[in-house]
Amino acid sequence: MKTTEPLVFAATSDLAGITRGKAFPLSKLDSRMKKGVGWTPTNVMITCFEHIAEGPFGALGDLLLKPDAETLVELNLGEKAPVERFALGDITDLQGAPWECCTRSILKTALARLEQLGGVGLLGAFEHEFQFRGDVPAGPQGYTLNGFSQRRAFGESLMAGLEQGGLETDTFMKEYGENQYEVTNGPAKGVRVADEAVILREVTRMTARYHDEAVTFTPIRDTAGVGNGVHIHMSFTDAADKPATWDAEGPFGMSKITGSFIAGILKYLDSIVALTAPSAVSYLRLTPHRWSAAFNNLGFRDREASVRICPVTSDDPEKIARQYNFEYRAADAAASPHLALAAIVHAGCQGIEENLPAPAVTQEDLSELSPKALAERGYVRLPQSLEDALDRFQSNETVCGWFPGQFPSVYVSHKRGELSVVQDMDEAGRCAAYEAVY
Ligand code: GLU
Ligand code: MG
Repeated sequence: MKTTEPLVFAATSDLAGITRGKAFPLSKLDSRMKKGVGWTPTNVMITCFEHIAEGPFGALGDLLLKPDAETLVELNLGEKAPVERFALGDITDLQGAPWECCTRSILKTALARLEQLGGVGLLGAFEHEFQFRGDVPAGPQGYTLNGFSQRRAFGESLMAGLEQGGLETDTFMKEYGENQYEVTNGPAKGVRVADEAVILREVTRMTARYHDEAVTFTPIRDTAGVGNGVHIHMSFTDAADKPATWDAEGPFGMSKITGSFIAGILKYLDSIVALTAPSAVSYLRLTPHRWSAAFNNLGFRDREASVRICPVTSDDPEKIARQYNFEYRAADAAASPHLALAAIVHAGCQGIEENLPAPAVTQEDLSELSPKALAERGYVRLPQSLEDALDRFQSNETVCGWFPGQFPSVYVSHKRGELSVVQDMDEAGRCAAYEAVY
């Protein structure tokens, strides 16, 4: 007689960037892939604080969450814990059409737009920083062998877990901040780029739990310290799967499409940060001199720029073309990777559609310029609160027009509900509240 039956958790990365879903027996995977599991529209209003924001759905409606077998993760961390199984999926209506608030479907639409407009596919990876909760161990920490070695066992489990999740492992390091580590993985294609970011966050949390530790990816724990950034690396491949991001003749190596895409991101940046840095504390991180992002500028190897052209390590044109990529730095892990990437890709597509020229590249500290000098050069300070970011999102018709149906108003209601939970808290209280969630 069986005493245990393996379960698979069908998951969505929701508007709060939280992984929610339902489990079913592994033996039913084939049929569940077709028919999904039942899902409720109002779930989309559950904020990161587990409170239900006001929304249009109430008790009405039915949806399906259909796991995608390509994303199935079977994570065996060791003997102390059961095998974790989960798969990401799409939310559809009962007839199988994508639901307007399904973050994964929203990303698929953005990627289809990129392919249609630019004839390119997206290659990318999310680079994550996170912190262990609890005391700081003894000895020197930032980038040290000591700090690394104190978490070597964790790091080795994590690498194995990411491999089991189908990710290409890259690096694990002791970052500068208190108890802060960074993990990077190799690039993936299309919707998988965001899927892998969700997988990485969940595998990191599960690995920490296995080692009797807890981690947080919260945007910032304390303004006296550094933030936890999410840097989204991107490049393009053409129809023949050849790199299409770099052009030796282009400004700072940007191909035509790269230049327009980045110009689109910068033009719409202040209206999309509500989706890429979507918590109340995200705006404590998006301030000058934190190596995050504060203005809508493109930097060449500059870690204070919102978009940065990353270094390459070769003189060989073929290798440069393959390595050349840029990263979006105004993101954090309070965002659903699918939603953050969708917003960025749509902004980039808008830049292609508007045929925008490649932006100028900054190699200076923009925080030292006067508002007048900034305005003359077309730079805007990014919103300094989530309230402001939401206003700019909501009032930008072009940006809202990229998203289906009621999504923009549902998103804003969700986020305003989240803000109502933290509105009376001071900065430390807000940081603690988000740290406990992310
Ligand atoms: N911690 C910084 C951030 O919040 C990033 C530091 C780095 O460049 O790795 O984005
Ligand atoms: Mg880092």
